[in-house]
Amino acid sequence: MRKFGAFPIIVNYNLHMQLRFSHKEDDLYLQGRREEEKQLYMKTSTTSDETLENNLYKVEIDEYESAVFRCLQKIEGNPVGRMVLGLINKKTVVWIIPETDAMKKCSCAQTNPLDYVIQPGSVARGVGFGDTVIQFQPELGDDTLFHELVHAYRYSHKKFCPICIDVPPNSKGSDCGSSEEFLAHQMENIYMSQANRPLTLDYYNDHESSVRKDVIYDFLLSHVDRLEALKYFSRHEYLAMLAAHSLNCDYNPFRDYGMLGAKFLEEHNLSTLPELPVLQP
Ligand SMILES: [Zn+2]
Repeated sequence: MRKFGAFPIIVNYNLHMQLRFSHKEDDLYLQGRREEEKQLYMKTSTTSDETLENNLYKVEIDEYESAVFRCLQKIEGNPVGRMVLGLINKKTVVWIIPETDAMKKCSCAQTNPLDYVIQPGSVARGVGFGDTVIQFQPELGDDTLFHELVHAYRYSHKKFCPICIDVPPNSKGSDCGSSEEFLAHQMENIYMSQANRPLTLDYYNDHESSVRKDVIYDFLLSHVDRLEALKYFSRHEYLAMLAAHSLNCDYNPFRDYGMLGAKFLEEHNLSTLPELPVLQP
């Protein structure tokens, strides 16, 4: 278990703890003992494999924690990364833990509150605030970890609040995406732009191919809900305001929101952009 400098971040290799207790968590879930399930999850997430069998897993622990540290150092070396790291609520802790094989299948990382709000009839752990748990593999790269840290930042200040944005119909048959993913993706692109690294179009439409800034701006202009989300965060999110005023990288839609919004209104002969509708649970 290692703390990352002065930041409220602890890297905790606990793969074997997770594997040992996951069936127990599943059992408690099935028995409807949801509070006990959560308490076990909280304990597992914050306990290191160092505590097991006389530190049998020392090599694995060092390997994982060093690799995550290298990602964090890269993030700290980028002004956008440093900004997000520095703004995470210091009264909270961000726990970074490894993924199990089951989770690795999605090639993605995940962030949720440690003390999540139990959702009746659902395994979802995304509601809540305060301390967070990021499940992450270093192979996913510093850009993915940065994205997760934006979520952790929002949770740490009790601001994580998804609003529905329009996305292509997904596997659940829903066309509702999350404004939180939009924010994290925009911040990720700003982070990448700051380092002259490739940008991607959109969290939901194409998160893989590299595209130019003007292509993304055209995409934002042709998706009114994305522009509304830009407006929403420009007004309500300190991170977006700070990015708009202090970051001079090429790609910065928060800084360029005035220009993008004006262009949209002119093209559509409108006087004002509507507000994002709040997500109904
Ligand atoms: Zn995300």
